[in-house]
Amino acid sequence: ASGARKLGVAICGLGQLSEHQIAPALAKTKHCRLAGIVTSTPAKAEAWKAKYGIPAGNVYSYDDMHRMADNPDIDVVYVVTPNALHADHTIRAAQAGKHVFCEKPLEISVERCQQMIDACKRAGRLLGTAYRCQYDPHHLECIRLVREQVFGAPRIIQAGFAIDVGEPGQWRLKRALAGGGALMDVGIYALQATRYLTGEEPVLVSAIETRTDPVKFAEVDESMVWTARFPSGVVAHCSTSYRAGGIQNLRVNAQRGWFELDPAFFYDGNHGRRSEGQEIRFPEIDLFAAEMDDFARCILEGKPSKVSGEEGQRDVRIMQAIYESARTGRAVSL
Ligand code: NDP
Repeated sequence: ASGARKLGVAICGLGQLSEHQIAPALAKTKHCRLAGIVTSTPAKAEAWKAKYGIPAGNVYSYDDMHRMADNPDIDVVYVVTPNALHADHTIRAAQAGKHVFCEKPLEISVERCQQMIDACKRAGRLLGTAYRCQYDPHHLECIRLVREQVFGAPRIIQAGFAIDVGEPGQWRLKRALAGGGALMDVGIYALQATRYLTGEEPVLVSAIETRTDPVKFAEVDESMVWTARFPSGVVAHCSTSYRAGGIQNLRVNAQRGWFELDPAFFYDGNHGRRSEGQEIRFPEIDLFAAEMDDFARCILEGKPSKVSGEEGQRDVRIMQAIYESARTGRAVSL
C-alpha cells in the first residue's frame, strides 16, 4: 500500500540547518528518507553523496531543478535556502511536480507567498511551512490548557525569542536575502505562538523598533517589541532581538492562574511550569522528524497540513503590519 512507502525527500540548500538538523532528523522519520540534494556547492555535493549514499542522478543545482520532473525517486523538496529565495525554489520544485516543505518565514512578502501557494495548487501538490514548534509536545500542552480553559480564559500572553546573530556579512543581515531581521528570523516564533495559543488572528498591532548598532543593522531590524490585540480581547506583548540573549519564553496569564515555557523555542530542552507548581515537561522528541513525518502522512493520506502555505503567509502578513507600525509610529489594524 502507498501508506507504507517512504517518501523521497530532496533537501534544497545545504547550510547549517540542513547539515546539523534536517539530514540527521530524516534518518529518524517513519515515512521519509533522504533521497536527493539541491546545491550550488560542488564540494558539498560530493560530501553528501558519500555520507548519505545519494546517487549522482539525484543531485541537482538550483537552475536544473526542472529535471526532477523525470525522477520518481523524489516526492518532496525541503527548501532550506535564505528567506528571499524560498519562492523561486518552491516554484521550481512545484513545476517539476514535487510537494514542497519550506523553512520559515515562508517568504518575505505576502505576494511571494501567494505565488508559492498558487504554484503548488496548480501542480496539485502540497505546500507546508516548517513550523517545528507546532509539533513540540510542550506547545501542544499549552494549546490544550488554553482550549480546555484549565485556568479560565487567557488574558495576557507574553512571548519572546532573541538571539545573538553573530558575524556581520552573513545573508541574515542583508535585506535582499533575508527580507527582515530579528522579527522575520526568530520573532516569528513568538508571533506564531500567540496565534496558535489563542486560535485567533490579531486585529491590531503596535510596534517599536530600536537599532543600537546601526552599522551592523543597516538593512534589517535589530530589536523589536510589539503588542497585539485578538478578537476575544486577549492581548499579547512580544519581543525579539538579534543582539540580546536570554529571551526565549512563552507565558499565558489567565483568569485563575498562569503557565509558561522557558525556554520555549529551542530544538530541545524546552520545559515550563504552571501556577499551582506543576511542571510542564515531556520526553524529548526530534521536532524536525515529527514535522516531516506529519507532512508525509498528509501527502500519503491526501489530508491538508496544519502548517499549510496559507498558515505561513498569515504570519508574513502580520509581520509586514508590525514593520509598518514600527515605521509609522501608529497602531496598524488587520
Ligand atoms: P545557511 O546560511 O547556513 O544555509 C543556507 C544555504 O542556502 C547555503 O549554505 C547555500 O547552500 C544555500 N544558498 C543558496 N543561495 C544562497 C545565497 N545567495 N546566499 C547564501 N546561501 C545560499 O542558513 P540556515 O541553514 O541557517 O537557514 C536556511 C533557512 O532555514 C532560512 O530560511 C532560515 O530561516 C531557516 N532556519 C530555520 C530554523 C528552524 O528552527 N526551523 C533554524 C535555522 C534556520 P548550498 O551551498 O548548498 O547552495
